[in-house]
This record gives sequence, C-alpha cells and structure tokens, in this order.
Amino acid sequence: MRITQAGTLRINFRDFLPHDKRRIRCNYRCRYCNQAGVRQVDFTADNFTQASNLWDRLRAVEDRLLVKANFDGEIFADNWAQKICFYICGLPNVSRFEFITNNSLDPDVYMAHINPSKAVFNCSFHPDFVGIEQFITHMLKLKRYGSRAFATMVVTPERAGQLGSFVSRFRSEGILLKPILLLGRYQPRVPRPLKRLHKNLCRLMDIKTVFPEAYSKRTLGIIRRYYYSDLEFEYQYGKRTKGSLCYAGSDMINLYKDGTVMRCFTEKLGSIDDLLSGGLRLATGPRPCPAETCQCPTHMIFLDAFRQHYSLCDDYADHYYPRKEPVHAEEI
Ligand code: SF4
Ligand code: SF4
Repeated sequence: MRITQAGTLRINFRDFLPHDKRRIRCNYRCRYCNQAGVRQVDFTADNFTQASNLWDRLRAVEDRLLVKANFDGEIFADNWAQKICFYICGLPNVSRFEFITNNSLDPDVYMAHINPSKAVFNCSFHPDFVGIEQFITHMLKLKRYGSRAFATMVVTPERAGQLGSFVSRFRSEGILLKPILLLGRYQPRVPRPLKRLHKNLCRLMDIKTVFPEAYSKRTLGIIRRYYYSDLEFEYQYGKRTKGSLCYAGSDMINLYKDGTVMRCFTEKLGSIDDLLSGGLRLATGPRPCPAETCQCPTHMIFLDAFRQHYSLCDDYADHYYPRKEPVHAEEI
C-alpha cells in the first residue's frame, strides 16, 4: 500500500497531543523548555504495546518512511521513549530514524541497540548544562559509529555573544550548528540576591519576557548572521503563513501515540485506521496554511516557499539543503 505520490513520507512521531500537559522524562531543566512545569510521566508496558502495535501496522506501507521522534523530553533518559525509538528504528520500511537528544549520554551506552546507518541525530546543545568539548566528543563518537548528526542551540539573549565562537568550534570539527530563536516566555539567569527583585520586575514588565519579540536588535542581528537560512529566520521570527501553500499533510504528517494523524499542529486529518484503510487520503500537493504563523523549524520547511529555494535532505525528516550553494552538505 502506497500512501504518498512520491513514495516518501516524513513522520513526526509525538508522544502526546498538544493539549496534554505531560511529557517524558528529561535529565536537564532548561529554563526555556516549552514544557517547563508540566508533569513527567512513566509510561507503562501497555503504552509500549499500544505504540509498537501502531508501528507494526505501518509495516504494510510501501512508502519509504523518514521518522523523527518529536518528544518533549530526553529520549535516552526515558525508558519508554528509548524502547519505542529502538523498535521503530528497526522496522524495514523506516529508512531513517531521527533522534532529538540533548546528547548528554555517552553513545556507547545506547548504540548497541541502534542500526547506525539508519539512525541520525539532531543534538541540542544546552551550554547551561554541558561543556562544548564534552558535547563535541559525543557527537564525534556518533559519527565514528557511522551515524549522521548535526547540532542545534536555542540562543538565549545572554548566550548570543558566544554564538560565533560556538559555531567556529563546531565547524572546526566538521559539525553543523544550527541556532534557533528562543520562543515563548523565558526567565533570564540572574544572581541569587537579585532573584526576588528581578521576578517582581518581570511580572511588572511581563511583555518584555516574551520571545522572540523581546530580543534586542543587536542580539537578533548576531543570531541572524549564523542562521541556517534567512528564510528560516524570517519564519521563526513570525513571518505570516496564513494562506501560504504548504506540503504538510501531503508528504509529512504528525502521528501521535494514540494513532491520531494531524497535518502539523493545525488540523486533525483522522486516525491511523483511516490512513491505512484508504478512508484518509493525503493531499497530493500543497494546500493553504490555516495558521497565522509557523514557528516550528520542523514544520515550516514544508512551506512551498522553502521548496522554491531548497531541497529536502533525504537523511533527515526535517533538514534541507540550499539548492544553489550546498555549503553545509559536507558538514553533516
Ligand atoms: S534538554 Fe530539551 S527537553 Fe530537556 S529540559 Fe532542556 S529543552 Fe527541555
Ligand atoms: S506552514 Fe506550518 S502551520 Fe502552516 S500548514 Fe504548514 S506546517 Fe502547518
């Protein structure tokens, strides 16, 4: 059974629907984590059975599947997440499985469970918790195992000044570092004696704590200089998408643990039963976006505006190459 016209389907596999206030475990506590304050949960054996059954049914699909585990938490710090990711990565029609990880664990701990030529790693660098040398050591080890990997970093205002040196250090090891704008509310780090004063000030000046609007012009300029593409920067910064043509729901879907199929975060398309029975047919081309903005880098690259300038990378679920200047291709 073929689901897409081109024969390749990119699937963002998610643990919970957007309104759920739970997440898998994480060994870090980033101040900018969009799930900060929500409950971390232990999944049960039944949850594993439910998810593995879902993926067993997808074995019938003839399309090449590029899967990304898009969980809010750290896969390698959570038993359920690890187990289900290893399972999916082993399925024959899954050609690539993308792990988002904070790269805190030595790859020797988990690589025995993974086919390195299928696994790719999207490593989030959180300098509040890990030194750059240790982070790079783990990434180089992933590459030695035979996996592809690139790094990302949410650039908080106080880290922007270091971004250039971070990019250079990664580049010197042949690693691509993609900066990401901070989105949402964020409590900057302040010295302990000033914490209470700062908290009150933040409350009074609430609007100033909402990013990306609250970046200073100078900080934005620094971050933009190192962005993977100007177009990605513009959309992350809030460029309007409503009505723009987008391939989400055509060759990319969001699939949730309970079998719900969504276009991205915007439209519920149906269920995995609908998809496999033919009751749900994916669009054969781009359709207008119903949302005002699309600031998720995982999703925005499905906009037709990106296809006009870039080509999707077949090794990742959500990475792309500039068509005219393939300068990053050798770096990942
Ligand atoms: S490592 Fe990722 S999931 Fe964990 S707290 Fe930081 S941003 Fe959140
Ligand atoms: S632009 Fe973003 S929000 Fe809009 S349809 Fe595409 S993926 Fe969804």
